Amino acid sequence: MNPGKNIAIVGAGIGGLTAALALQQYGISTSVYESRPFQSFSTAETEHAGGAGIWVPANAMQVFARLGLAEKVLAAGYELTEIELLDYLSGSLMKVDLSGIKQKFEYAIVAIRRSRLHQILFEALQERRSRAAAQLHFGYRCQAATVSQEQVVLSFFEQEKVIADYVLGADGLHSSLRQSIFPVEQPNYSGQTSWRAVVKAQLPQSWKKTSVEIWGEGRRFGFSHVNADEVYWYATADMPASPHQADSSSLQSAEIDALKNLFATFPAAVHELLASTRAVIRTDLSDLANLPKWYSGKIVLLGDAAHATTPNLGQGGAQAIEDGYLLAKMLHDCDEPSQAFEQYQKIRQEKARRIVRRSRLLGKMAHLKGVFQRQLRNAAVKFTPAAVNLREFEKLYSLNF
Ligand SMILES: Cc1cc2nc3c(=O)[nH]c(=O)nc-3n(C[C@H](O)[C@H](O)[C@H](O)COP(=O)(O)OP(=O)(O)OC[C@H]3O[C@@H](n4cnc5c(N)ncnc54)[C@H](O)[C@@H]3O)c2cc1C
Repeated sequence: MNPGKNIAIVGAGIGGLTAALALQQYGISTSVYESRPFQSFSTAETEHAGGAGIWVPANAMQVFARLGLAEKVLAAGYELTEIELLDYLSGSLMKVDLSGIKQKFEYAIVAIRRSRLHQILFEALQERRSRAAAQLHFGYRCQAATVSQEQVVLSFFEQEKVIADYVLGADGLHSSLRQSIFPVEQPNYSGQTSWRAVVKAQLPQSWKKTSVEIWGEGRRFGFSHVNADEVYWYATADMPASPHQADSSSLQSAEIDALKNLFATFPAAVHELLASTRAVIRTDLSDLANLPKWYSGKIVLLGDAAHATTPNLGQGGAQAIEDGYLLAKMLHDCDEPSQAFEQYQKIRQEKARRIVRRSRLLGKMAHLKGVFQRQLRNAAVKFTPAAVNLREFEKLYSLNF
């Protein structure tokens, strides 16, 4: 592609920042427009209240390695060596030792505060000594995109319009870019909502390096350390979507008390984490399984905007990272952006869609109700050979570009 073209990225989340970094590495300049103000983006907490964690799996770490950032993420995060799944009453169902994954891909799973990950990506964009620039604009909430005279006009709330040759829509689940080009396509609520927090805590020695998830009836609870002193936890439950919530909302004591009741029959570690919690972030879990096309004309979508997934495989952010990198590579390799967009969707679509489907299914399995159904499920999980589980993880963690 002609590097003189004017490329705009809408959304400076995980996907948008990865795309900007990769484009910069390929010598292509961008302007990034983010709805949040600079203060909330640059301060220690990019999320509300106590913040949240994220598990960065091996596929995302391999992309970060290509961007020269993997060691920084590793140093700021906390390396996990095992995954354990439990039933809230009958105990351990499955343990996956991640040493084989690490051997094969060089990285396994790194747990990190989300704010730290954003900070690393943001700082890398500022620091890069490349001939290409990435200009970040904060407080730019995109309203719509229209195509006029071979260019895209982006309109923002309370800001001047911006004209670009091509636009990357990285503005998340409720993407304004997707609504502009595919207005009929809407995310589907999964029937499950989630709460998240990071608290000062120590997990028992046997779980110090483990990503733990405990399945209950109509609910589940997961956690891991994100650094030596802090634990990130999340909980999910079958529940109608919150009528007040546009995206994520931060809630305090009444909600935490309700969670203590909901998880009263779970193991002691869950009670201890909830007892240390002062604020939680609530997010309804939705996905977007089958967007037939991820681009139209001069606009292309990536990450949650194109294929949002429920978080049950811990892959939504990783998929946005894969997208951001590959899109930049295709824009660099192909003569025409239209070709790049087509190739990008062709290479990424199958994996991203498979993850959305499997994650939705896993969410339902984890919340199964009734003794008989749970016993059947538990037996199926327990007796699945370790080699079969490892093969599934290897599929998730392999890059096909
Ligand atoms: C409970 C939970 C746990 C999760 N755990 C994991 C995990 O462990 N591992 C993992 O890989 N993934 C996880 N995910 C998924 C992950 O958070 C998302 O898939 C990922 O953040 C998507 O990245 P993105 O860049 O596409 O979108 P986002 O991260 O949503 O970023 C979009 C950006 O665009 C901005 N924006 C939005 N609208 C506009 C607009 N109109 N104009 C301009 N800017 C706009 C937003 O402020 C934001 O900065 C989890 C999700 C949830 C809900």
